[in-house]
Amino acid sequence: MFAQVRERLIRWEFSSPAQQVRFIRWALPLLLFFIVLVYEFAEHTFSRKEGFSPDFLAEVLFFGILGPMAVWWILGYIGRSQKRLEDAYAEVRRLNAGLEQRVAERTAELARKNEALARANAELQTLDRLKSEFVSLVSHALRAPLTNINGAIELLDSEREALSPARQEVLDVLRDESARLTQLVQNILDVSLLEAGHLTPRRGPVALRPFLSRLLRGCFPTDRAHRLVIDVPSDLPPVWVDESHLADVVINLVDNAVKYSPDGGEIRVSARLDGGRENAVVLSIRDQGIGIPPDEQDRLFDQFYRASSAARQTASGYGLGLYFCRKLVEAQGGRIWVESSGVPGEGATFYVSLPSCPEGDGEDDPDPAD
Ligand code: ADP
Repeated sequence: MFAQVRERLIRWEFSSPAQQVRFIRWALPLLLFFIVLVYEFAEHTFSRKEGFSPDFLAEVLFFGILGPMAVWWILGYIGRSQKRLEDAYAEVRRLNAGLEQRVAERTAELARKNEALARANAELQTLDRLKSEFVSLVSHALRAPLTNINGAIELLDSEREALSPARQEVLDVLRDESARLTQLVQNILDVSLLEAGHLTPRRGPVALRPFLSRLLRGCFPTDRAHRLVIDVPSDLPPVWVDESHLADVVINLVDNAVKYSPDGGEIRVSARLDGGRENAVVLSIRDQGIGIPPDEQDRLFDQFYRASSAARQTASGYGLGLYFCRKLVEAQGGRIWVESSGVPGEGATFYVSLPSCPEGDGEDDPDPAD
């Protein structure tokens, strides 16, 4: 034990400065005591020649004991402070190590979760691709027999005078139902093509006034209940979109306007510069039909969503048209939304904001609306 202490003393090896201070706290006062004792002894014996006098004892007591005790007390205070400091450092190091370990554990856990998410994502993508492929395969397969059925119906229709009234009615039902089925198959096919990224827009300048006149004159139902108004200023800049995609969107929206205003009324197709967005044009389709409750308007552009107002009507549909429109409009860098008070008779207005044509890329299309 003593040899150990001696060894450590020779090499001045202590685990901490606090231990060093503790050692000095005892060693220094003792050393001072001996120095004072030797000094006083030499002074009183050899210089003053008085030996162990009361003066000698008093000086040894004062300088040899009180002085080293003061040193001992001060070093004790320093040692305790040092010890507290070392304990605090040790605690910080311990906390730090714990923290580092926890960070490492959490990082590993996150990496594991990320990996699982990436795997699940890849599986979902594969499933989604398989679903799209399956849907487009089925739709393609359905299109051929449907074309034959439609052809046969047209043939029968061309000779409808030869049929009895009851059979003519059956033929009408057949034609309507077949048209619905054809539309559904076409919608599903379009959506699956779009989701698979096969409907890439081929964008170019489209002057809305002549475009809308041409498009709606050809396909708008000619019933007397509905009145179509096209309201597009002649100086409106062309939009920069895929013309056939825009035609799909407009036809879908105008068809809906007709379908969801069973009592007829005006259907107004307008276009203006977008007040809130630079270099954009807003196309709007307004009807005077059944309207859409405000709390359902957010979900209207989701797949298969049909508003409760429509469910109350006999109007048929699958809730795919607006979803398809949104996808097509977004693919052109545009935006689609609806406004309606939800009050029947006040109708609904669908808005489509589209990028306008870059400067100098106008279309020299003759304007049939003029
Ligand atoms: P579908 O008409 O085949 O049901 P859409 O996706 O075209 O599918 O429309 C989704 C729903 O939006 C419709 O079911 C209907 O509730 C509502 N809707 C669309 N257009 C109108 C409109 N002009 N007026 C009132 N409701 C509409």
